[in-house]
Amino acid sequence: MPIATVNPANGETLKTYEAMGAEEIERRLQLAEATFRTYRTTPFAERAKLLHRAAELLDGLQQDIGRVMTTEMGKPIKQARAEAAKCAKAMRWYAENAESLLADEEPADADVKDSGASRALVRYRPLGPVLAVMPWNFPLWQVIRFAAPALMAGNVGLLKHASNVPQTALFLEDLFHQAGYTEGTFQTLLIGSGAVEEILRDERVKAATLTGSEPAGRSVASTCGDMVKKTVLELGGSDPYVVMPSADIDRAAEIAVTARVQNNGQSCIAAKRFIVHADVYDAFAEKFVRGMQTLKVGDPMDEATDVGPLSSEQGRADLEELVDDATRSGARVLCGGERPEGDGWYYRPTVLTDITREMRIHREEAFGPVATLYRVHDLDEAVLLANDSPFGLSSNVWTRDEAEVDRFVRDLEAGAVYVNGMTASHPAFPFGGVKRSGYGRELSGHGIREFCNITTVWHG
Ligand code: NAP
Repeated sequence: MPIATVNPANGETLKTYEAMGAEEIERRLQLAEATFRTYRTTPFAERAKLLHRAAELLDGLQQDIGRVMTTEMGKPIKQARAEAAKCAKAMRWYAENAESLLADEEPADADVKDSGASRALVRYRPLGPVLAVMPWNFPLWQVIRFAAPALMAGNVGLLKHASNVPQTALFLEDLFHQAGYTEGTFQTLLIGSGAVEEILRDERVKAATLTGSEPAGRSVASTCGDMVKKTVLELGGSDPYVVMPSADIDRAAEIAVTARVQNNGQSCIAAKRFIVHADVYDAFAEKFVRGMQTLKVGDPMDEATDVGPLSSEQGRADLEELVDDATRSGARVLCGGERPEGDGWYYRPTVLTDITREMRIHREEAFGPVATLYRVHDLDEAVLLANDSPFGLSSNVWTRDEAEVDRFVRDLEAGAVYVNGMTASHPAFPFGGVKRSGYGRELSGHGIREFCNITTVWHG
């Protein structure tokens, strides 16, 4: 894939970039290693000052970077600005909390004594240069979600961003430099995915994190497994959204629309499979479909737009194939199911029903504004269906019955259960999945400790 900005609203190529060659990559790896030697010993207060400064700069650049993101991958401009604001918030959260999250831990006195020690503690030390392989869908947030904790822990970052968001990738490098970080603390590598393996095999790179598709995750994890390097994988999702009879149906249907079409439907934690109890199915379906039909699809730079284009022509073709496969096998289209006329990689918000297990869309991730709607007759059936997916990222349940909530929290195979609301990440809560959605966690204390050497210090 060429490294280029191609506007998904009209297919126009705006800027192309040469991939960095071997010499430039080598220079940057050397710089990362050299920078880590000193950066690792900087006090938390100094790191926090730099990250606060970066957050402040980002606040001032919200409009500019918002337009860049919208131009590169098509998200509605309002959502692009909100993404920048969310990044600044996460940076501040880590600037303020990293020191306590990584404070030395003291085992219980009895255990210290039992080990024969006079004193013992656990210390979180940084690992070194970490390679982050990132996707285009939240081109700022995914990177900050890695970089804010990694830099606060004393690691240095190397970014290989998706090939269709080079301007956002370069913006990030520049942001950290403008904030006062030395050049080697955070660097963008403008490279294609073919160049990743060699970098992962380089001894100077100590660990990797990948957010993206399952094949990309498998590839990075295999190389890192071969090299015995730590990885965190944040992969795809096909989150269930379960609606039970006691739920506030109006609210559940209204939020369902946002949960499905946020970011033009291209979010790993978007609700994708809507599993509704038969008692409220008709009422929910009617409101949900109406909500999807009234969305404004169009130019993502327009403040009034709800749904912009998909990020690439291929992305839209993949989505169309999933819908076609389902309708050929008997799925019914309640709304959408087609692209609008005109330029750009748009696709109408779509609801499909009469889904069967044989259809690809039942098992695969629909990365665009397409919802599947299922009818179930009790809680057991809802849980079975919700878990009938290779993915396990997040989940949403709507009910006012506490016993039902307990059952969902006990039984849903997912990294999160959101009750009476849609999934949204927050810096204080761990984020990540089970099954083929990946492993490891980002955000919160769990996220910052992923790329630490958890060191036992024992005194005789
Ligand atoms: P993708 O094709 O896997 O690309 C993601 C990144 O991996 C890009 O930087 C890409 O580089 C690189 N890449 C691709 N194949 C690679 C390989 N074999 N070796 C090394 N690097 C490789 O994913 P996408 O289509 O851009 O993003 C959508 C996917 O990301 C969806 O499945 C979505 O659910 C998932 N996602 C997950 C989360 C989460 O937190 N769990 C969040 C957001 C998105 P190039 O661009 O150069 O190919």
